[in-house]
Amino acid sequence: MSAPAAALAAVRARIDEAAARAGHPVALVAVSKTQPAAAVRALAAAGQRAFGENYVQEALAKQRELADLALEWHCIGPLQSNKCREVAAHFAWLQSLDREKLIEPLSRHRPPDLPPLNVLVQVNIDAEASKSGCAPADVPRLAAAAAAAPGLRLRGLMAIPQPAEPARRRAAFARMRALFDALARDHADVDTLSMGMSDDFELAIAEGATMVRVGSALFGPRG
Ligand SMILES: *Cc1c(COP(=O)(O)O)cnc(C)c1O
Repeated sequence: MSAPAAALAAVRARIDEAAARAGHPVALVAVSKTQPAAAVRALAAAGQRAFGENYVQEALAKQRELADLALEWHCIGPLQSNKCREVAAHFAWLQSLDREKLIEPLSRHRPPDLPPLNVLVQVNIDAEASKSGCAPADVPRLAAAAAAAPGLRLRGLMAIPQPAEPARRRAAFARMRALFDALARDHADVDTLSMGMSDDFELAIAEGATMVRVGSALFGPRG
C-alpha cells in the first residue's frame, strides 16, 4: 500500500470504529490546505473524494490541476464577501457561513446548472474573540435565511472548539450537538454536524459529529 493509502486506511478505520460505537455513519473531509495538488491526487487514488480548503485562490489552482478527477470540494475557511462568486461557482459545500450578508451573493452566483450549494453555519462555540463563526443565539436566524435562499441548501452546523483539555472540548461538542438537534427539528434537510479534526475526531464522533475534517493525520504536518 502507498503511504497516502495507508494513512487514509488508518484514519478511516479509526473513524469507522468511533462511528460504530456512536451508531451513525461519519463522512471524512480530507483537509488539503497547503498541500500540493499531487498529494490530493494520491489520496484520491486511494479512494478519498471530499477535500477541504481554507483559501479560495489556493483551492481554485488545485481544482484546475485536478480537473480530470471527480472530487467534492468543501470551503472550510473564513469567507470574504468578494470571494462569494468563486465559492458559489467552484465548491460543492461551504462549511463556514457566519453572517447573513454572504447569503445573497452566494445565492445569486450559484450556477443554475449545478445542484444547490450545501451550506453549514459555522458556530463560534467557545466565544473566542479570534475565531470566526456566529454566536449560538444567532444560529436559528442565520440558518433560516440560508434555508430560504435559492441555490443554497442548508445542511447543518460546523465548529472548531478551542484547543482545551478533553473534558472542555467534549462539553463544547455536546453544546454543538444540542444546537444541531434543535436545528434539525426545524429543517428537514439538516443532517450534517461537522466537528472534529486530527487530534479530536474520535471525541467529536462520540458527541455526535457526522462529518470530520482531518488534515495532518492524513497528509503529515503542514509546513
Ligand atoms: C486546518 C483545518 C482542519 C484540519 O486540521 P488538522 O488538525 O490538520 O486535522 C479542519 N478544519 C478546519 C476549519 C481547518 O482550518
